Amino acid sequence: MNPYYTEYSEYLQRLFPGQKVQKLSINTAAGCPNRDGTIGTGGCIYCDNRSFTPAYCRPSLSVAMQIQRGKEFFINKYQRMKYLAYFQSFTSTYLPTGNGVEKLLRMYAEALSEKNVVGLVIGTRPDCVPDSLLSGLASINASGTPVIMEYGAESSHNRTLSLINRGHTWQQVEDAVHRTNDAGISCGLHLIAGLPGEDDEAVLQTVYRACTLPVDSLKIHQLQVIRDTRLHRMLVAGEIKVKEYTLEEYVCLCAGIVKIVPRSIAIERFVSQSPPQMVISPRWGVKNYQFSAMLQKFLASENNRAFKSV
Ligand code: SF4
Repeated sequence: MNPYYTEYSEYLQRLFPGQKVQKLSINTAAGCPNRDGTIGTGGCIYCDNRSFTPAYCRPSLSVAMQIQRGKEFFINKYQRMKYLAYFQSFTSTYLPTGNGVEKLLRMYAEALSEKNVVGLVIGTRPDCVPDSLLSGLASINASGTPVIMEYGAESSHNRTLSLINRGHTWQQVEDAVHRTNDAGISCGLHLIAGLPGEDDEAVLQTVYRACTLPVDSLKIHQLQVIRDTRLHRMLVAGEIKVKEYTLEEYVCLCAGIVKIVPRSIAIERFVSQSPPQMVISPRWGVKNYQFSAMLQKFLASENNRAFKSV
């Protein structure tokens, strides 16, 4: 067991005892209200969905077909693997035309009818979860198939959220988390460290605020400047500044984060790694498991130093 924080795998073990589970990304061709004018235009300034959509998931394929492709992709890793259908791309719960909620629930049913799919993970914006959707998901959850909601919160500072053009506030994050919790559904938050105008203290404040909410997991990663995004253009034009963390500085920040997060909340990741040809900065080239090992080594050496000085 990790002595410093609860790993996401431990959390999954609690939800799926005795099973090894793997997320399979599904792209439903959902749009984003922060791009089409419903909430905003242009999207979040750092967004480039290509940077986090796996090659095997193509929206032109049915949900079932994408699951088949995903399974083929992972088949050699572990033969008895079970799967979580991961609705992730863009704002996955945003289907503005027609009976959006009914369509979504049909897609979830299609995913769950596939062999060895044992749960749902749904990533979305906190302002795109109507109660009717939560109620449908609560029924699935109550029937014994775990559902996990993941909300992109990014920061607890409304000034930052406005600067990055998120189109929602921290209060909307709190509202979504409470409604999800009231529906009996597990919930995680996605946070970004190093957003424009934020220092370490601002990041730690966000983590602290997130931990006061009824959440089960946090997914944290460094801000990546992706080529040709609005963020990239703003940086080049000198309209905005971001703190460029060295890897060592980021390890220190994450050591501070770990000390805030209670054992009841799992940490899924600390770094994100987009395809190198798309990344302007930071170019650490470190995978999440490598970073976790570095962080644990750092925390162990910190403990040793503290012990010796007593
Ligand atoms: S990050 Fe998500 S919410 Fe923001 S523009 Fe991209 S898809 Fe939309």
